[in-house]
Amino acid sequence: MHELSMADGILKAVLENAQKNEATEVIEVTIEIGKMALINPEQVKFMLDVLSEDTIANKSKFIIEEIPIEIQCSNCGFEGKVDGDDLDHYTPIVECPKCENNRVSIINGKDCTVKSIVVEKDD
Ligand SMILES: [Zn+2]
Repeated sequence: MHELSMADGILKAVLENAQKNEATEVIEVTIEIGKMALINPEQVKFMLDVLSEDTIANKSKFIIEEIPIEIQCSNCGFEGKVDGDDLDHYTPIVECPKCENNRVSIINGKDCTVKSIVVEKDD
């Protein structure tokens, strides 16, 4: 379960950060997931809700932003975003929109990162 370990990692990072900031509650977490990260955002969101149940993030909102894929084509030199909307989450094949070559390097859209965390503190 790729999504489960991903959600687990995200939550640990969030709680660590909250602890460092002496937070009493996590309000909102924004997570960026690249379209090439082979992750189903809906599943990650669901698992975060479940995993956070017994933590200070149990009332937190988890917002997931999808990052578009950016490629560099070794054939024609095209560099830029590609439309990843039709991509299969499990077997994504990206090809160059200009020359349809699929031997491209992915320069963006593979990562999954915590973008921002909003916490509440005791005064
Ligand atoms: Zn190309």
